[in-house]
Amino acid sequence: MNIFAPNYYVQSFKTLNIQRLHDHGIQLLLCDIDNTLVAYDEECPNQDVIEFIHKLKRNGIEVALCSNSPSSRGKNFGKHLPVSKTYPF
Ligand SMILES: [Mg+2]
Repeated sequence: MNIFAPNYYVQSFKTLNIQRLHDHGIQLLLCDIDNTLVAYDEECPNQDVIEFIHKLKRNGIEVALCSNSPSSRGKNFGKHLPVSKTYPF
């Protein structure tokens, strides 16, 4: 079993059905930064991202940021958000 194989795909985080995640017992969302939450050249989370993360938290879903960018990118981006952890890859 490949635990990182997707079984749910959306075009944008903006269309992610957070209630669906909650209903399926999802407690943690590992979330990429560049070209997922923001364009790679956006230094900070925009209002859509901030609202998305807060909505996840209100639904009992923790968020960890994952990025293959230098670790400073993830740390700087994550300091603006209530995320559990930032993981560099
Ligand atoms: Mg990416």
